[in-house]
Formats: sequence, C-alpha cells, structure tokens
Amino acid sequence: MGNSIRMWEDNWLPVKNKPRVLSPKPDGNDTIWVCDLIDPMNRTWKEDMLDRIFYDFEATTIKNMPLCSSIQEDVLFWPFNPDGEYSVKSGFRFLQEANTLQQPRPSDTEAMKPLWEKMWGLEVTNKVKNLIWRACTNSLPTKVNLVHRKIISDSLCDLCKLHQEDTHHALYCCPMLKPLWSQTPIWNHEALKGSRTFTDAMDFVFASNKEPELFSLVIWNLWNRRNNLRLGKAALPLDKIIEHARVRQLEALAPSATPSLHRSQQQMGWSPLEAPLYKINYDAATFAEDATVIEVQTLVAHRAIELALEIGLDNIVLEDDNEPLFKALKSRGTRLAQHGHLIKDILFLSSYFSAFNVSFVRR
Ligand SMILES: [Zn+2]
Repeated sequence: MGNSIRMWEDNWLPVKNKPRVLSPKPDGNDTIWVCDLIDPMNRTWKEDMLDRIFYDFEATTIKNMPLCSSIQEDVLFWPFNPDGEYSVKSGFRFLQEANTLQQPRPSDTEAMKPLWEKMWGLEVTNKVKNLIWRACTNSLPTKVNLVHRKIISDSLCDLCKLHQEDTHHALYCCPMLKPLWSQTPIWNHEALKGSRTFTDAMDFVFASNKEPELFSLVIWNLWNRRNNLRLGKAALPLDKIIEHARVRQLEALAPSATPSLHRSQQQMGWSPLEAPLYKINYDAATFAEDATVIEVQTLVAHRAIELALEIGLDNIVLEDDNEPLFKALKSRGTRLAQHGHLIKDILFLSSYFSAFNVSFVRR
C-alpha cells in the first residue's frame, strides 16, 4: 500500500545499492508517502506524477514495480537472496555494501482509512470483505472494467440491457434489482439511491448503520448470482437473496475456516462437481537484468489468476514449472521475498474460486 513508506527518506526502490530516491524533492512538493503516488481506485501508479517528480530512470523503475490488488501491510523485504531467505552470507555481503534499512512509520493521512477500518471490522468472512473491498476500489471484473482492459467490447448490463454495467450498477442500481431493494426500506433509502458510486453507497450504509454486515452479504450474493447467470449456471432467485444472506450472517458468527488451497467438497457450496476444471499453464521470459526468474514467473502467475477471474472461471489449477514459486504457493509462505506481496495477492485472489489448486510440472 505504501502508506507507511516515506517517499524521500526510506529505502523502498528495488535497486540493490541505491534503494533511496535520488531525484531531488521539488520545492513546495508536499507528497510524503509512497501511497500518494498510487491511484487507489485503479491500483496503478500515477504516471503523470512520477514523470513530473522523478528523474526518468527513477520514474521508469517505479512504474515497473508491480502493484497488488489486495490491501497489504507494507513489509520490509530482503533483496539479496532471490527467495527472500536471509542468510549470514547474504547479510555479510549486504553489510559490506553498507546501506541500513530504516524503520517505516505508520501514516494516518489516508483519506479512505475510516472506510477500510469499518470494512475490515465487519463480522463477515474474509471472502465477503474482499469482495466489498474490491467493489469499493473498482477492481471487480464488471463489464465496464473488462471493456477498459480490452477483454470484451460490449459493456451493456446482461440483466437490464439498458445501462453500462459498472460496479455501482451491477451491485445496486440496475433496475432489475429494484424488487430486491424495495423489500427492505432501510436500503431503499433516498440517500442510498442518490449515491454516485458503490463506495458512496457503502459509506452511507456504514455511516447510518443500516445493517452493514447483512448488506455486505447481500452484495456478495448478488455478485455471485450475477456470475452464475453469466455462466449459465443455477443462480439464487432474487427474492431469496436476503433470506440466504441472513443464514450466511448466522454462519459467519460461528468460527470460520480460513480460505484453503485444498478446499473440501462440503465447503464449496452447491453443485461443485458440475463446474468444469480449468488448468492454467503459463511461462515467462525476461530480458531485464535485475529481475530474477521467480519474480517474473510470480508476476505472470498473478496475471494468470487475474485473467481467470476476469473471464469468470470458477474451478482452476495453476500449473507451474518454477519449484520455488510452487512451494511458496503450496506452503502459503512468502518469507521476505521482493515478490512476496504478489504471492500473498495470488493466495488472496484464490479465495474467489470455488476450487483452487496448484500443481508442479517439470518442463
Ligand atoms: Zn442492469
């Protein structure tokens, strides 16, 4: 996230001997934190700003740093071994090269922080929180977003065939959802109907305490229903959504299992065996001197899982020929690797699939 990393003082660039920004701080510049360089909605670097503030080579280095789509704490990484494993030998080498890492300090300036805090405090499963967070950061594969990423060419909502399907439309505004919202006066509120974005709607539900947990579960069910309808699968009827969400709310109060790579059949929900299994193969090549094979392979695996989500696959196996990456995914461990945030992100995104596994092949 970069909200605890100081842009000018901390060692945050992935350049081994010059991890601190060399470009001079422009007069009157009040950007302090690395998160100020990131567009929180699109999860991209603010390229105009980078070009304005930094020397060309530094702007290029930053633009090449992959960003993750999930909220993650800033961590220190150990760049002197490709798997992030610290060894005395690499430590000695590092000390010889002499640059000490500074301890980052937490920030309290992020405008969205109150909403994130309320959201992560919801008593719902992580899967539901993740969905709400993705909706609020406009990172769900809605038709508008798929058009934006040039995956499809038509952004018209499949349900009403009247409007473009952005997040707010898919989850709240679509006229076809009216019968659902009109069942519940608290969510049929004028202020909620007047919200311009899904984030505004969520903000209102929290601020006026309109059963945010149940609302989140309804949203989760609506998104699932929308995906099932798109895939031609059985979907919950609209008038059963609230009832179903209430049942899930009661379940969430019981201790919940964390998402697992090996999910049992019972945890998958209805008709898991009908979903076809997709095996995703990928391979990576790099010409950059600085990037290690595992870094590039992790980046490609990350893109592969994003793509699987975007096209609506539900039951997948990632097939990998990079043993360290396979082991990291299997053990759910990332240590202090430079690409650790991407591995965490892959594991995080894996919770969106009914079934997710990784396999290793030697090529
Ligand atoms: Zn619609």
